[in-house]
Amino acid sequence: MHDNRVNLFVCGPTVYDDSHIGHARTYIAFDVVARYLKYKGFSVFYLQNITDVDDKIIRRAEEIGESPRSLARKFERRYLEDMRALGVTSVNYYARATEHIAEIIDQIKVLIEKDFAYETETGIYFDESRFEYFGKLSHQSAEDIAKHRIEPDLTKKNPGDFSLWKKRQDGDEVTWDSPWGKGRPGWHIEDTAITETYFGSQYDIHGGALDLIFPHHEAEIAQMEAASGKRPLVRYWMHTGFLNVKGEKMSKSLGNFITIREILNRYKADDFRFFVLLAHYRRPIDFSEDALEQARSSLERIRQAARLMEENLELAPQSIGEGEIDLSFAEARSRFMEAMDNDFNTPYALKAVFDLVRDVNRRINEDSISREEIRDALYLLGEFGEILGLRFHVTERETAKRTEDVTHDLIGLLLETRQVLRDRREWHLADEIRSKLNDLNIEVEDSREGSGRYSMK
Ligand SMILES: [Zn+2]
Repeated sequence: MHDNRVNLFVCGPTVYDDSHIGHARTYIAFDVVARYLKYKGFSVFYLQNITDVDDKIIRRAEEIGESPRSLARKFERRYLEDMRALGVTSVNYYARATEHIAEIIDQIKVLIEKDFAYETETGIYFDESRFEYFGKLSHQSAEDIAKHRIEPDLTKKNPGDFSLWKKRQDGDEVTWDSPWGKGRPGWHIEDTAITETYFGSQYDIHGGALDLIFPHHEAEIAQMEAASGKRPLVRYWMHTGFLNVKGEKMSKSLGNFITIREILNRYKADDFRFFVLLAHYRRPIDFSEDALEQARSSLERIRQAARLMEENLELAPQSIGEGEIDLSFAEARSRFMEAMDNDFNTPYALKAVFDLVRDVNRRINEDSISREEIRDALYLLGEFGEILGLRFHVTERETAKRTEDVTHDLIGLLLETRQVLRDRREWHLADEIRSKLNDLNIEVEDSREGSGRYSMK
């Protein structure tokens, strides 16, 4: 919409628990979208919301006797740690719902003024019958929508009406003042209040998982287009397919989920990223350890090839005959870019990577490649890796060794700190460090001599 700028918004997490690898799939996909657009020369503003007020957060907080606010902050922190660990680095700004309550209230006021929303004794609702495009994104008629019974509430005018503001009920502690008394925002309105704040009433790309199309994204369109009178809310909707386990979607409600932390305890982030990118973002992924294991060995094959290239940088001849190789590099690059240009087709892009390394390896074995060409090939691999957020070229032994050393030193430092705390009888903090380390599968062994020993579970 604006020259060289791409405004991208993706629905963020509701922070009441650790995110699972189904979520990771979505965020990795959009990380690659943002990286590729940047590579193509766009200036990308990638915005995500954090839903830090929600019934699920309040319920969970009650269950474990924590305040909803501290629970939300804890899982927000853990979410951001997970994203960093997965190499999801392209989000420019995370906007918390609770920090945009004023904007949310303003948007609801506009909707009431324009007669798109009405007040009842339980809250403020959007009147779907007033918005002629309701159901368009999910291709549903008013009768279809009536069947869903979203948010059953007897005070609503139409079954498809959704809540913009929930009035305080007995016992509610998480509330804000509003023109309609104390209460809290509905889920859908936070997104459009946040996107309007940073992007205005229209922007380029909205992303999220497939199951958010209805009612969530449908509601967003209704809210913003009704409030602004401008269509469309976004130029492109992009939805990621599910990550399935034995044919069923991985989800909290089905209890068949694996958290990002669990998977990163057993696999490297790159292995999981590679696994995700072997499927097109719109397609479902069938998750199994076998499939992940296979992805890991495919990635390892590419890395082995890259190591062979590196070893031959010195051994290969300075020059060979004319540029057959250069042609195949150009072809690899153009096939990679064509695949990415075609709706971010990462599996085809990865095929171009495989073909490139196979080709170069063959020529190394045939002694028909020069040093310079190997250097070019390594450079190209680096470029592909940058776009996908993967490292194809690592001298594995060195990195593993270096990471191991640093990890050992850091754990040592923590244990020394903990010993100082113990000496000062600050048991609470000392125990906290031990339990946090334990979460990371590092067991601290206390003994009379002190607490300098640990083992990895
Ligand atoms: Zn959302």
